[in-house]
Amino acid sequence: MGGDGLMRDVHVILKKALNDEISKDEALMLFRKVQDRDGLLELLRIASKVRDDEVGNEIKLMGFIASITPCTVDPPCRYCFRWANKKLFNWDDVLTDEELTVAMKTLLEKGLKRVEVGGGTYLGEEGRKMTFHKLSIACGASRDVGIWITNVSFLPEDVYRLKDIGVEGVTCNLETINEEAFRRLRPGLDFDLRKRIIEESDKAGLGIDNTLMIGLGEDWGQPHPYEDWVEFFFYFKRFKNLRIIEVHPFRPTWGSPTQDMPPGSEFETLKAMAIARLIYRNVDISGAHTVQGLLAGANLIMHVYPITKSFRPWGKHGIFASKIERLVGDVVMVDNLFEVTRNAREMGFEIEIGC
Ligand code: SF4
Repeated sequence: MGGDGLMRDVHVILKKALNDEISKDEALMLFRKVQDRDGLLELLRIASKVRDDEVGNEIKLMGFIASITPCTVDPPCRYCFRWANKKLFNWDDVLTDEELTVAMKTLLEKGLKRVEVGGGTYLGEEGRKMTFHKLSIACGASRDVGIWITNVSFLPEDVYRLKDIGVEGVTCNLETINEEAFRRLRPGLDFDLRKRIIEESDKAGLGIDNTLMIGLGEDWGQPHPYEDWVEFFFYFKRFKNLRIIEVHPFRPTWGSPTQDMPPGSEFETLKAMAIARLIYRNVDISGAHTVQGLLAGANLIMHVYPITKSFRPWGKHGIFASKIERLVGDVVMVDNLFEVTRNAREMGFEIEIGC
């Protein structure tokens, strides 16, 4: 943090943040002025304390099942994994009804309380029909596991039907609040439609989860768009059912039009997570599988026990030899509970389910 006056400003904001949510101007000030390790450590210390005070010491877990629909978006989003692997979000990737039922029951037996059910954006009437069908199966398999849908193959008016089916929440990721950047990076999608789905989901009483992607669309040497990140966070302030915030750094996908773009800054990602915690005191913030995320105020681990077709078992840890279990047909589960919860356990947090 450069200069005594600036440090004082940051200290004043962080002191206040211990008890009260920060304002838009204060969030922007933190993004701009926290520019070294001392500033970061202070920001993390306060974000950790707010997490402890407001949501407690327990780390929540979320499972993952994919895919329930293919993606027909054309052209694909310019950073999508579809560029690297043509099978991803293709028909090869889609679980049958029976496989989806087995996947749900498996996660229920594991004791998970919530699961993200993912898929590509399958446009048109067929996509809507398939989404309702697959969600009826998933919800019918277990009423004790809250289902969060991420495929966005439906329309704003459909969210009431999703609620009736028993869906708990909707993840209709914007990843940026900058409409120009969204259109440039995701030319096959409709920014306004996504916003309307989020708005309608909130009205329907569905939970809202959304992701900010740090570095998305930024070029080499370009200043970080702090104003956009703050806009993103405060856009979601209006929704009473906002339940989950995710902050991830952009990772260039090999073979995609963005493969030579700079990866998102990890330093800025941590700052954004911590600042999100100072705004959203008791919303779940993902990233609690890493030491850094835990220090930044995260309290949720996503992608626990990911279940997918065998060609894409992910959620495997970078160092651990994660166990992969075949469940049914070509569907596998990565048994990653130990490794994704280890940091939290060793740092003294309680984990929602034991391992
Ligand atoms: S909607 Fe999702 S799966 Fe489809 S192209 Fe975009 S990022 Fe890829």
